[in-house]
Amino acid sequence: MFYKIALDGPSGAGKSSLAKRIAKELGIVYVDTGAMYRTVGLYVTRKGVRPDEEEKVISLLPEISLSVCFRDGEQHILLGDEDVGGLIRTPEISMAASRVSAIPAVRAFLLDTQRDLAKKNSVIMDGRDIGTVIFPDANVKIFLTASPEARARRRTLELSEKGINTPYEEVLRDIITRDKNDREREIAPAIAAPDAIVLDNSELDLEGTVAAALTIIRSRVAEA
Ligand code: C5P
Repeated sequence: MFYKIALDGPSGAGKSSLAKRIAKELGIVYVDTGAMYRTVGLYVTRKGVRPDEEEKVISLLPEISLSVCFRDGEQHILLGDEDVGGLIRTPEISMAASRVSAIPAVRAFLLDTQRDLAKKNSVIMDGRDIGTVIFPDANVKIFLTASPEARARRRTLELSEKGINTPYEEVLRDIITRDKNDREREIAPAIAAPDAIVLDNSELDLEGTVAAALTIIRSRVAEA
């Protein structure tokens, strides 16, 4: 039987760093669903379509050939044959991803890809609606969160390490806007599933977060 761990929570809470470590620790596959929404955002932006032009975005979906593959445990996201992993982390594409993700047809477009990945592998999947919509039956659900300020500090550092220098105030503003879009949208709002365990890591570093998450996972598995 394959094992599913749902990891949801707002932008910049450190879901991907945590999921990578947990995947390694447990020998399972890490799936980053945000990268899929980002890739849709990249595609429509390249086509000159604004991500809130719903009808136009929907008309582009059939052209999008999106796939993921795993090399050395790392997820690579492909648009056709092009690995777009290095292009989807900019502030512009982050905002585009947040906007396209509010369109129901975009969510439906990505749903099967996400579910299929868990048919062939044990996964830890990170996103916003994994515990609520994609895998309501997940073995473990963690909702990872932190204050907007803590998340903006981390994201600013992460971007600057990639050579993208964005002022802290701008990152904080974007995080607050994206949180609002994600939480208040009608479809698949980014909220904790009733049976998720909320882990606030505002005061924890990565090691502390990994230890806390492993404790949650092991206790849930023991209960099952
Ligand atoms: O997780 P990440 O910040 O890379 O996600 C980018 C955007 O994609 C988020 O702001 C959110 O709007 C959207 N998203 C989503 N559902 C998911 C994953 C991401 O709506 N499962």
